[in-house]
Amino acid sequence: MTTASTPAVPQTLQPFLAKPKQLMINGQWSAAKSGETFDVFNPASGEVVAQCAAGDAKDIDQAVKAARKAFEQGPWSKLSPSDRGKLLWKIGDLIEANNEELAQLETLDNGKPYGIALAVDVALAADMFRYMAGWCTKIQGDTFPITVPYAPDNDFHAFTLKEPVGVVGQIIPWNFPLLMAAWKLGPALAAGCCVVLKPAEQTPLSALRLGELIQEAGLPEGVVNIVTGMGETAGAAIAAHDGVDKVAFTGSTEVGKLIIKAAAGNLKKVTLELGGKSPNVVYKDADMDAAIAGAASAIFFNQGQVCSAGSRLFIEEDVFDDVLAGVGDIAKNMKVGDGFDSATEMGPLVSKEQHDRVKHYLDAGKAGGATMAVGGGLLDRPGYFVQPTVIANVNDDMKVVKEEIFGPVVTALPFKDDREIADRANDTDYGLAAGVWTKDISKAHKLAKSLRAGSVWVNCYNIFDAALPFGGYKQSGLGREGAKGSQAMFTEMKTTIIAREPRKMPRMGMAAE
Ligand code: NAP
Ligand code: MG
Repeated sequence: MTTASTPAVPQTLQPFLAKPKQLMINGQWSAAKSGETFDVFNPASGEVVAQCAAGDAKDIDQAVKAARKAFEQGPWSKLSPSDRGKLLWKIGDLIEANNEELAQLETLDNGKPYGIALAVDVALAADMFRYMAGWCTKIQGDTFPITVPYAPDNDFHAFTLKEPVGVVGQIIPWNFPLLMAAWKLGPALAAGCCVVLKPAEQTPLSALRLGELIQEAGLPEGVVNIVTGMGETAGAAIAAHDGVDKVAFTGSTEVGKLIIKAAAGNLKKVTLELGGKSPNVVYKDADMDAAIAGAASAIFFNQGQVCSAGSRLFIEEDVFDDVLAGVGDIAKNMKVGDGFDSATEMGPLVSKEQHDRVKHYLDAGKAGGATMAVGGGLLDRPGYFVQPTVIANVNDDMKVVKEEIFGPVVTALPFKDDREIADRANDTDYGLAAGVWTKDISKAHKLAKSLRAGSVWVNCYNIFDAALPFGGYKQSGLGREGAKGSQAMFTEMKTTIIAREPRKMPRMGMAAE
């Protein structure tokens, strides 16, 4: 591993950084009612780069009321699906037109390399709005040829409508700040919902810039409200608010469970995209160059702060040493540094808290007798840097193998044969994703089918697209984002039965008339 330099924050960000970071409620920007703010850090240096309004329950209440008004009375509800689609497309265009600034904000706020932020985060965010723009005119129900045994003439017209679920609260994490905002807002707006969005306290900046672009696109006031603040206050207030019809959350499994409890008050609909401890399986007949590069990218992409990270690397016994050495070489030679340095392949972790958390796991691994084949420590420089780490000599029950680390730390585990691998890969509370590397198509099909995971990548990893459903089995979540899955997340289905002639219904029940 080598380290890169620390370039200055780009001048182009100064106009945005110089502005106050306020809440966007009902089309207006304002300070939090409490007047409180919180600091936003550059994780590459640990320096404060901005102060954001710390919204709390009172601000959330105001935002929910604005969203309700926009949903029930505003021009949004009367907009044709086609016009709604045009607005979403325009947001996609504006993201693309401002892609460099947005990518710079992601690097500044989250630490990820600028090139990745531009090519992955910002490009996929624009794509999600455009993909969802197309759905606006295609969210439709069915008609049903019904056979009602006690009404033999069956002279009914029965159909379903898909209607927006209403006011949606969206709580997002810090690992892909803009992209997560797009993944949540795109489908909710396509369905015709109004939204209160809470970005993560660690990374609020790109969501605020997106708020400006949403206004520039011409969305009516109150349709999207953005309230920055803490999870325990602003986030919890969204989950508990009686005026919220649905909450969509991405983050830790622990907080996901709190959301479900809080949502029980008014039985708001809940969808969750949570953590993972995904198996990545390399068979001995795999294309070794591709598998080794793929295994490294599966864990080191985004500093390992990816819910689908391939953090349990299962390697068939005969090739264990070769794959371990290959992934180790990549880790050793990886350029770690400031995301604004174009040579940087891996940036810092997002926060001091995450840095401490990963250190805690590295210590637990060492204490448990695991071998740090490569890395295993923190970097001695300002900012929240961790060495890309490959851990060997572990068993399936160790803490580093069981729990989500959410950092650039992979555990390598040998396996003997086909019979044991599915059971071991599935031996986790999570079920978000999995990888399979083999040239044998039958083997790939067979293992992909046995894996209890929402996404399985064969001879590739971390391939995302707006058209693909994404979400988890088991404790990795509830529901699917992207594609048609999103419609179920943000619509209610209404079944309507119309008698073609008014029916004289019998007093006591169901006899035909
Ligand atoms: P987290 O606490 O689950 O944060 C996710 C979002 O939930 C943030 O917006 C957070 O707000 C908010 N939140 C926190 N407590 C809340 C509460 N009681 N009610 C409502 N909302 C609440 O995640 P984290 O602490 O940032 O990271 C911890 C671990 O979560 C990571 O190490 C990783 O394992 C996992 N994680 C998973 C994903 C994923 O994509 N699945 C993403 C991030 C983290 P604040 O940030 O403002 O507190
Ligand atoms: Mg948190």
